[in-house]
Amino acid sequence: MPLRDTLQRIITEFPEARKHPLEAHPLARFMRGEGKQAATEGLGDQGSGLIVQASPGQGNWAAVPWIAVFDPVVTTSATRGYYVVYLFHATEPIVFLSLNQGTTSTRQEFGSRTRDILSDRAYFVRKRLPEFVSAAPTIKIETGSDARLPGDYSAGHCLGFSYSLAELPSEPVLRDDLQLLIRAYRALTFRGGLDADTDADMEVSDFNLPDNATITEKRKYVLHKKIERNGTAAKAAKKYHGTVCQACNLDFSARYGDIGQGFIEAHHLTPISALTEGVAVQYNIAKDFAVLCANCHRMIHRTDDPSDIVTFRGRLKN
Ligand SMILES: [Zn+2]
Ligand SMILES: [Zn+2]
Repeated sequence: MPLRDTLQRIITEFPEARKHPLEAHPLARFMRGEGKQAATEGLGDQGSGLIVQASPGQGNWAAVPWIAVFDPVVTTSATRGYYVVYLFHATEPIVFLSLNQGTTSTRQEFGSRTRDILSDRAYFVRKRLPEFVSAAPTIKIETGSDARLPGDYSAGHCLGFSYSLAELPSEPVLRDDLQLLIRAYRALTFRGGLDADTDADMEVSDFNLPDNATITEKRKYVLHKKIERNGTAAKAAKKYHGTVCQACNLDFSARYGDIGQGFIEAHHLTPISALTEGVAVQYNIAKDFAVLCANCHRMIHRTDDPSDIVTFRGRLKN
């Protein structure tokens, strides 16, 4: 189903639907099924490696239902990190497309000051993505509910679009907007996410980088680490490649017993130079990942080409 029809149906039916139990409601089923599918298709070739999830609510209708897109490099949950999301206004026939933030850990740390922190971060994100602010110009949203989460969505909104039912754009425009926001999402990750510390030295000290490496070069290495630490990919890599180091054959369980069972690290084999801002990462687990013990993993990162596992194995024999 086209994205436009999907959004239209949810906006139109939500005010009545929320008066009835969520359980088995056709609109709730629609959101989790066709709604999720429409958003997935709307991503086009920007969708590689991304996860789409739809939530009309849990137990009861959410004040503001949503359909979200997660990059597992950043998060797989609306409670953490940052992500792209359609937020359906609590009372008005409006849907927002938003680059937004998870709030659980922020709440744990900052309590009643959470919304100040979210707003500050949203401001920072706009500074980090200036060209996307002009392209996705809605920088303030009002979700129409005083409840905690909807208020957090308003505070956590960084940039995006606002669509009213009366002026819902055409299918191509909706898709363009969604894909643009995904590019902003990936660009934010590449540029350091919500972390204001642009000096990535802590992360890149493991790599054999020249002292005068540019920030773009450093960011490629940081992204390499984020990709292989991504739990979804790491789990799949382990399942496919096993848990024995593919360079030195170390089996942690053989050396350390019980506590080493299943312990191995995923290593991403795409050449680091090929990791470019805005280019969707492909997750071909068989081809693009290896599993390495912690020592081999650190050492291969110190070679000139960490994607060349064959040459690295030769080095071990010598
Ligand atoms: Zn090893
Ligand atoms: Zn690696």
